[in-house]
Amino acid sequence: MPGFELIGKEEANAVSEVFKEGGTLFAHGFDNLRQKYHVREFEKETSVFFNSKHCHAVTSGTAGLKCALKALGVGNQDEVITQAFNFIATIESIIDCGANPVICNIDENLNMDVDDCISRITPKTKAIIIVHMLGIAGPIYKLKEYAKKYSIPIIEDNCESIGAKSNSKYLGTLGDLGVFSFDHGKNITCGEG
Ligand SMILES: *Cc1c(COP(=O)(O)O)cnc(C)c1O
Repeated sequence: MPGFELIGKEEANAVSEVFKEGGTLFAHGFDNLRQKYHVREFEKETSVFFNSKHCHAVTSGTAGLKCALKALGVGNQDEVITQAFNFIATIESIIDCGANPVICNIDENLNMDVDDCISRITPKTKAIIIVHMLGIAGPIYKLKEYAKKYSIPIIEDNCESIGAKSNSKYLGTLGDLGVFSFDHGKNITCGEG
């Protein structure tokens, strides 16, 4: 948690190395000045770790959710279903795309009530965001099964449950897209990311 981070020599050295490697603020290009792009290394290693075809690092979990929604073509007047017990950023990212959030109920585990979610599908539903709250896996398998016949893409908001598994599979790798956060209050922090 903020103020109680476990930051050891390895992390401190990694940060100080960045300052020795040239310009710190280049994301792309300027290869003569800066040879190493650690974010690209991070994306590669994350893909391998999660056995995921693609990994794209952005500035925050909120930005990740927005990129995921945009990648699915979510825009004005579309509907995106997500759950009542949640973090505000999930709703904000939907609104930021010009779409309307549709809120479904939660179950006794405080995760998504899949039956209630499915009952809220309309012709305008463009995506469903299931949120794995506080390290507890939401009913992603049931959601996939029930949503199959509607062909609606599923985004896993896994900002609070990195490393957690369900049926031996990593959360965030089971939907069509998975979003993670490295904000200062999450399980693993980079400050933001
Ligand atoms: C923290 C969080 C986010 C947003 O992540 P940031 O990196 O803070 O933007 C989104 N969804 C959930 C469930 C979160 O807990």
